[in-house]
Amino acid sequence: MPEFKDLSLLKNKTLFIFDMDGILWNSMEPIPSGISAVQKLHKLGKQVVFLTNNSSKSRESYKEILSQLGISCEIKDIFTSGYLTAKILSCLYPSAKIFVIGEEGLITELKLEGFKILNEEFPDLENKESIPINIRADLIVVGWDRKVTYNKFRTAMSLIKNGAKFYATNDDASFPAPNNQLWPGTGAIIAFLSTALNKKPENIFGKPNPDGILSILRINKTLQDEAVLIGDRLNTDILGGNRAGITTIAVETGINNRQDLLKAPQEQHPTYFFTNLDELIKRNFFRN
Ligand SMILES: [Mg+2]
Repeated sequence: MPEFKDLSLLKNKTLFIFDMDGILWNSMEPIPSGISAVQKLHKLGKQVVFLTNNSSKSRESYKEILSQLGISCEIKDIFTSGYLTAKILSCLYPSAKIFVIGEEGLITELKLEGFKILNEEFPDLENKESIPINIRADLIVVGWDRKVTYNKFRTAMSLIKNGAKFYATNDDASFPAPNNQLWPGTGAIIAFLSTALNKKPENIFGKPNPDGILSILRINKTLQDEAVLIGDRLNTDILGGNRAGITTIAVETGINNRQDLLKAPQEQHPTYFFTNLDELIKRNFFRN
């Protein structure tokens, strides 16, 4: 099993990429082992950045949440799938006009990159049964949206039929919700639109797409063998980290457990598998 591997290999790593949901909290209930691991890594002088597929909040909001948990960081250390999507699309389609299925965090990140948001320019657009001839979008961007409606889907579908390109932030089928529930995630929203259009998004930027992780390495001038990704989800976090060619640690504090690991394909197997991040303390990782 991966968990018996020698931890000394981890000592040379300089950049630790933390997923947040299921690692630092579950439904906003703090996970002490995850928070303490970040604080101890900071004390060791390691660089820690945060990468989430959740596009509903902006990086600024996450900075505030982390600060409330006792983790200090800069905004440049936070990467959401909404931010990565905005950043990559701004290189491909600068100043494009976008119709968004998504929440405030995604809209904020798109606006910060200079995009025009069609939903804000024409707030009544969703209520129209057909799109006026003078209104068009260059792009449709789909993220997690807890207020998505049939009218929103209808509008997005018409705009795509009229030539807009279809992109999405991430493909998580479900979202870990309070009281051990699972709610429909962005993947379910994409599936609704994809089925209606018989068309998949041009690209999905969150994990397991390795491009976002590789951008983080480039931004932080870090090589693949110097970086570690820590996540709870085998088919997004761990697969993404493996595809990016970096060391991966899966922990059981979120979505997946040991039984899931046994059933998972090889490409989703982490380098290390821990019950929780206290294993790093128990196995003397933080001791010189
Ligand atoms: Mg997670």
